[in-house]
Amino acid sequence: MTIQVTRSSMPPFEEYMNEIKDLWDSRWLTNMGAKHKLLEEQLKQYLNTPYISLFTNGHLALESIIEAFQLTGEVITTPFTFASTTHAIARKGLKPVFCDIKPDDLTLNADQLEELITEKTSAIVPVHVYGNICDVDSIDQIAKQYNLKVIYDAAHAFGVTLNGIGAANFGDASMFSFHATKVFHTIEGGAVTFHDASLIRSLNNLKNFGITGYETIECIGGNAKMNEFQAAMGICNLRHIEEEIKKRKVLTEYYYEKLSDVKGIRIIKPKNEVKYNYSYFPVVFDGYKYTRDEIFDKLKADNINARKYFYPITNSFDCYKSCKDNETPVAKYISERILTLPLYSDLQINEVERICNIILK
Ligand SMILES: *Cc1c(COP(=O)(O)O)cnc(C)c1O
Repeated sequence: MTIQVTRSSMPPFEEYMNEIKDLWDSRWLTNMGAKHKLLEEQLKQYLNTPYISLFTNGHLALESIIEAFQLTGEVITTPFTFASTTHAIARKGLKPVFCDIKPDDLTLNADQLEELITEKTSAIVPVHVYGNICDVDSIDQIAKQYNLKVIYDAAHAFGVTLNGIGAANFGDASMFSFHATKVFHTIEGGAVTFHDASLIRSLNNLKNFGITGYETIECIGGNAKMNEFQAAMGICNLRHIEEEIKKRKVLTEYYYEKLSDVKGIRIIKPKNEVKYNYSYFPVVFDGYKYTRDEIFDKLKADNINARKYFYPITNSFDCYKSCKDNETPVAKYISERILTLPLYSDLQINEVERICNIILK
């Protein structure tokens, strides 16, 4: 049987059936129904944030918060991310300006921020890549100094804390993704967390056509609402999140044991101050006896699908032709050597062992 890089976690079938049963009585299937409200409350607690707005996916959550802040001109971000981050900036008519990443945790290199800031810069969109929390103190301080907004792409950082502070508490806002492949999911889904109450209205407008009353349309909003079936899946999955993370931790520690002291293999580990969610298992092959691509092919030949995640980097996409990937040499270097190995809660220890043996053979 093929081992995929990830496999969606599912609550027990009966549990989900039970959760959606009410919907056959209420016939309230979307538009901020009871499940939506409940999930919002539960997530505020779990993520420890005063405000949250749920969306039908993380990408539209990110586009919406960018629009809500009425950003203009240029936005500084990193190319070492999923296409969504860069696309959200560009699709809102802004110019992505690429900052390189740090070789250790692969997040935005704050030391290079100031040289990229121009009169046109309006915001920074850093990525807590693989759940590694960015240098939030430096980034938030530079942003304050230059009067820029900070929106964290926290798609990978669900449940992660830095010195006990939840990922939702940094910058002006954070976007979480609840896509089926993430540690916590609502099938498709996402959220924006923030501290400024005045954003509630704009986000509600943006995700529901600008409708504020039966006969009032306040602005040109789109449609990006989370429906009740998605919210029900979230309510179920949230009950099991600690168990989900714990299982991933056990598997990750087994990977550490097998791969930690191997010359030419570098494991990207979270910082000591971080309580991690074990969302991904990224490994850098740098000076190992096999290249990343050779390892990828060896695994593939054994029906194991690792992923070259993130490769290629977004500033090398054809649609960003005006950008050059050699302006972010660290991101380029890492992207050519990184491989994300399979990790999901029902992956078996002996499967991890098999994966490691293929790599080490
Ligand atoms: C998954 C992901 C997104 C987009 O989220 P969707 O819910 O799939 O729209 C954005 N950024 C990063 C880094 C992601 O991994």
